[in-house]
Amino acid sequence: MARKYSRGGYQPDAPAEEAAAEEPPVPCWLCGRPTGETIVWHHPVPKSRGGRDVVPMHPICQQTLITNFTNSELQRHGMDVQALLDDPAVRKFVDWVAKKDPDFNAGIAKKPRS
Ligand SMILES: [Zn+2]
Repeated sequence: MARKYSRGGYQPDAPAEEAAAEEPPVPCWLCGRPTGETIVWHHPVPKSRGGRDVVPMHPICQQTLITNFTNSELQRHGMDVQALLDDPAVRKFVDWVAKKDPDFNAGIAKKPRS
């Protein structure tokens, strides 16, 4: 599919910082949907608890974990996402967010776009 350029010439359509956007989206660790424009690299074990592994997540999914679990709980569950999904609040969220757009960010303060 050919790209359309507007009259008047070439328009760069991607700032340098979005150069990686051409790679296929990685699935979110929590909800399994493709990640959207913003990928959060979440530490399943909090950095403050020595966690070093990171997983791709939607901002809203990370927010859900932070809201529903303490650092101690996150540390205990670690990479075991199934244990997190077994939490009723998380299960409910994932079922709800499954139908949303990958860039959906309800209730999260957005950075103003420049
Ligand atoms: Zn997600």
